[in-house]
Amino acid sequence: MFKDKLTEAAKRIKIIETGRRLYERNLTVGTSGNLSIRTNEGILITASGTALGGLTLEGIVLMDFDGNELSAGKASSEKMLHVEIYKQRPDINAIIHVHPVYLTSFAACRLPLNEPIMSENILYFEEIPLADYAMPSSGVLVDNTVKFIDNHDVVLMANHGVVVCAKDIETAFLKTETAEYYAQVTINTKLLGGAKNLSEQDVQDLINLKKMANN
Ligand SMILES: [Zn+2]
Repeated sequence: MFKDKLTEAAKRIKIIETGRRLYERNLTVGTSGNLSIRTNEGILITASGTALGGLTLEGIVLMDFDGNELSAGKASSEKMLHVEIYKQRPDINAIIHVHPVYLTSFAACRLPLNEPIMSENILYFEEIPLADYAMPSSGVLVDNTVKFIDNHDVVLMANHGVVVCAKDIETAFLKTETAEYYAQVTINTKLLGGAKNLSEQDVQDLINLKKMANN
């Protein structure tokens, strides 16, 4: 069974803090988006209709791994996306789903972020794939998105937004911020006439470097 050091109360505070940071960094607006943390009892997830920038303790719901609420409140309508990712990836303990401006622009144009234009981003993401469109909150959207999760922690959702998974909520926030930066730089390169891509050899060298660092 999953065990870690943070108490459930501390995780609720982490969710509130992360929601505020996402809002302050312009990574979420209005009442869109949702975030969750795996706990020993189930999944803590933001409630349906909450504004991530101003979460309260009442805006966070505990649910089980079938999406049933175990505490007061109604879990986010995207709850099954979170459930399926946690089931598929035991190494993932936090998930952020938001609609940031630049990443969502790529999602709206149905463009993955896979051009080899920045060494740091190849090391960090290799690529950010694009999941096919499906209705928000639908089982098809969950299936379309989760099939990329085996090999990617960040997935664009066509005409919708992005989902970011990580071992903890701090890492999930940093990945979201970095992915948005990657999208913004990519758009800027197009305004400047197009980036000069790294060569296949450059990309392979970076991937080898990453593998060595991970071993
Ligand atoms: Zn969404």
